[in-house]
Amino acid sequence: MSAPPITVPQANPGAGYRALKTGIDAAVARVLESGWYVLGQEVRAFEAEFATWLGCTAAIGCGNGTDALALALRALGVGPGMSVVTVSHTAVATVAAIEMVGAIPLLVDIEPEYYTMDPIELAAVLDRPLAGVPPIRAVIPVHLYGQPAALDPIIAACRRHGVPIVEDCAQAHGATIGDRKVGTFTEIATFSFYPTKNLGALGDGGMLATQNADLGASIAALRQYGWRTHYISDAVGVNSRLDELQAAILRVKLQHLDEQNARRRQIAAAYDAALSGTSLVPPARREGVGHMFHLYVLRVPDRASLQARLRAAGIGTGIHYPAPVHLQPAYRERIVTGPSGCRATELAARQVLSLPMYPELSDEQVTRVCEALRQA
Ligand SMILES: *Cc1c(COP(=O)(O)O)cnc(C)c1O
Repeated sequence: MSAPPITVPQANPGAGYRALKTGIDAAVARVLESGWYVLGQEVRAFEAEFATWLGCTAAIGCGNGTDALALALRALGVGPGMSVVTVSHTAVATVAAIEMVGAIPLLVDIEPEYYTMDPIELAAVLDRPLAGVPPIRAVIPVHLYGQPAALDPIIAACRRHGVPIVEDCAQAHGATIGDRKVGTFTEIATFSFYPTKNLGALGDGGMLATQNADLGASIAALRQYGWRTHYISDAVGVNSRLDELQAAILRVKLQHLDEQNARRRQIAAAYDAALSGTSLVPPARREGVGHMFHLYVLRVPDRASLQARLRAAGIGTGIHYPAPVHLQPAYRERIVTGPSGCRATELAARQVLSLPMYPELSDEQVTRVCEALRQA
């Protein structure tokens, strides 16, 4: 017997396009007619609109979220002979960006219930440097799944040691701590506009945000060969530009981001309600934060069987992520982990399961997921 078709996919960027098709098509036509395709007025307008929406001094567009992280590290002077602390329970991009600038990643464990950097593990590696590991010159907390990391103790530990922080906000556009959005608390923040993110392009894109105008100007130069004036490189830079088509599309989508995040939270509340009275536990919310549910992640010891039962009901799921970075073939046996290892990370990788989550899910689709969860 063949499996039924997936009628509720886990992610659906095409639905995101169709929901805003009229505005996006007009924006695309405007750019095609303009004759200017890279770093032009659409990018400048999007940067200004994004900075206003986020509440930062400068926003600088670039090619993708991985480049944004690497540009942030470069702008902070991080390179060979230095190490950067982040987590292993993240998109491989976070770790890849550290190696892109020639620095050594040092991966610490997560808080098991929130899946984000354990501030105690971070303080341990800052307070008692590991033998043979170069000095720590930056820390990258990841606001994973749309929920802020424990920034207060992370910032306190980094301030004690004078180490700058780059917030990886690729999964957390609009997430808040108190009444402020993540991406406004530290030296630099980075965003990805990969199509499935809360703010997704129809291609690749990324953004850096900072409260420091000088740092913003350095980043803007670094993304294009180190140019401050055309054709003259003041610093050695790279080519990581945002194109006008993606910027114009993102301007349309940014106008809908807050209402779309509200819809994600509504879907999360419906899933929470469906789980009460089952053996499954809704994702933990940190006190005082706004979780924007890039992903709605369950934790199940027998993940394969729940995944199969949902699949039989036509419901797609995802695993974010099936292998911690320090155990992946390209990294294992050479990546440095914290002194107490990554036990919480390794357990999470075996148990996490992501349910369908995007604002275009219909009420009927959400109900079907809820019913399938109750039956499974
Ligand atoms: C998506 C993602 C990135 C990388 O973004 P790209 O645009 O795909 O390069 C970095 N960090 C995290 C946590 C992500 O989810």
